[in-house]
Amino acid sequence: MTEFSKLPHQIPTLLPELIALRREIHRFPELGYQEYATAKRILNALQGLDLELQPGIVDTGIVGVIEGNLPGPTVLLRADMDALPIQESNDHSFVSQNPGVMHACGHDGHTAILVGAVKILHAMRQNLPGRIKFLFQPAEEEARQRPTDLQPVSAASQVIELGVLDGVDAVLGLHLWPDLPVGAIGIKPGAAMGGSSWFRITLHGKSAHAARPQQGLDTITAVANLINMLQLVVTRSIDPGVPVLLNVGTLQGGYRRNVVADRVELTGTVRALDQYLLDVVFKERINDVLEGLSLALGINHNLEYYSEVPVLMNDNRFGEAVYERLNSLPSETNVTTLITNENTLTGEDFAFYTQRRPGLFLYLGCTDPSTNTVIPLHNPKFNFDENAIGIGVMAMVEAAVTLLTHKKKGPLDLAE
Ligand SMILES: [Zn+2]
Ligand SMILES: [Zn+2]
Repeated sequence: MTEFSKLPHQIPTLLPELIALRREIHRFPELGYQEYATAKRILNALQGLDLELQPGIVDTGIVGVIEGNLPGPTVLLRADMDALPIQESNDHSFVSQNPGVMHACGHDGHTAILVGAVKILHAMRQNLPGRIKFLFQPAEEEARQRPTDLQPVSAASQVIELGVLDGVDAVLGLHLWPDLPVGAIGIKPGAAMGGSSWFRITLHGKSAHAARPQQGLDTITAVANLINMLQLVVTRSIDPGVPVLLNVGTLQGGYRRNVVADRVELTGTVRALDQYLLDVVFKERINDVLEGLSLALGINHNLEYYSEVPVLMNDNRFGEAVYERLNSLPSETNVTTLITNENTLTGEDFAFYTQRRPGLFLYLGCTDPSTNTVIPLHNPKFNFDENAIGIGVMAMVEAAVTLLTHKKKGPLDLAE
């Protein structure tokens, strides 16, 4: 087993309490917008530090500020707090006590990591040039439908509406990453997490007796062709070297086996690492396909197409500076930082922050290399090597300090 007892900032001393916090949060997971007990645990853990904490951000989130002693930029550190509607099938001592709810995306770990980073950065505040703003964000997994909006709105967007990004120069986040062993930190230049858009297509035809199809306009045979034509957009209209996907997830229509169906509705998602593909290419090509199909079959159609999560773009200057700093740590920390070219089409609402501010989202290795099995996120058996918590704290602290004190040119001026 790799030892991580040489991590800086007294992290090894802090680790037992952070692991205990993570396990408590794991035992009592809460779904998005309901993380009240989780918020209470965070507030308890930060008690005693003279911090101004603002709870109730988008119901259950918490924002706070650490004022450095010297002037400088402001960096926002963010962790997500919510669990998933999954029944846990682990049998460890801290298995979920809330039926059908589980921290299967590691947000329990992210929360513990940010608590640790806040404690350490607070202790360093006399020497910090600038401000650390931190955000415990609810409901990363779940957008919310509000009466005034056309489509569900992400928790991150709601956080932004509250002005949490005001005065912030850069944003920093991370995600536990089962594909990397514990001890590894991955930095992806450019697009680090996929963007997604979703669509709803309704086909309108004309009903008739199945024995007289010539009198109807059949939307069932239309949709059978449509699904294949949509997949042709992916394989025939997009560069094969570019990671994209289109998924039709629901399909509803028809009344009875012997009636020509006059209405079919389907919904789906498209994902890519390129915002232009999502906003322009996919939208136009799906519309073209529908126009052609409707013309050919004499039916009508309606297309609704919405952006769901933008592509999460890492700022490469920030990434390079953090890469250099983490790689200059003493080798006995046993931490390796690597530039990765991994392409993931998983979405992450941190992307709404990087859409507005330069940002960095780190992949934090969390698989125990001795187990030889990678348990993916959102799996009922998901768990991680808790050494990742200490390494995550270090990564957050070092990355935040990098931004505030970039040695080559003073503070890293990302606005340049
Ligand atoms: Zn997730
Ligand atoms: Zn997640």
